[in-house]
Amino acid sequence: MLKRFDFHTHTRYSDGTCSHAEMVQAAVARGMEALAFTDHGPELRVGVSREKMEQMLEEIKIAGEEAEIPVLAGIEANVVNRYGSLDVEEDFIKKIDLLSIGIHDIEEIYLGDNAHEYLSRATRAIERQRVDVFCHPFFFNVDLLPSLSREEIEDFVDLAAEKNVAMEVNVKYKIPGDDFIRLCLKKGVKLSIGSDAHRITEVGKIDWALSVLRRTGAKREDLIFNNFIR
Ligand SMILES: [Zn+2]
Ligand SMILES: [Zn+2]
Repeated sequence: MLKRFDFHTHTRYSDGTCSHAEMVQAAVARGMEALAFTDHGPELRVGVSREKMEQMLEEIKIAGEEAEIPVLAGIEANVVNRYGSLDVEEDFIKKIDLLSIGIHDIEEIYLGDNAHEYLSRATRAIERQRVDVFCHPFFFNVDLLPSLSREEIEDFVDLAAEKNVAMEVNVKYKIPGDDFIRLCLKKGVKLSIGSDAHRITEVGKIDWALSVLRRTGAKREDLIFNNFIR
């Protein structure tokens, strides 16, 4: 049996509409066995403000203490430039349980070839620092994977395996495709599940991800869940 967990959720601290406590309650009601909060990092327009980051961690802690399930403190940090830098400091990373990263922004100059610019930023980001989860991989308005060669994709997945970075199965955008997931499974890359919920009606709605994982032959041990919840 696959584990039921949701490692990608937003609250009022970024562009979500609910509190941590409300999200935990809804996640438990949907049968989640663990939940992670991953509000957007501060460089995104709607991201958590730098002044509120400590308060956010405090609220997650309180919500976790009152919860019946493990609650992880995370962030969806932004890859902010071509060098793969993130918008969160080392000091903050030390305080959280789960470092997720997402690419939401590429300067206009690269519009000609988003896929390769995205690939190079993603590669540098995971080479550069310890990352737990790569959110909505290769989704940038469209699925960029068809624009990359098999060799380029395999090299990236090999690197993710070496660096122990999990790839997210993202319910909101319904990506990545089965081929990419099968490649991750073949190479030993762990998989994460994210609803990318911004409200209580979405948190813990992971059935799409579970059906993809079953179809592609993922087992419990292929999920990042086990690395965090003991
Ligand atoms: Zn995102
Ligand atoms: Zn998100």
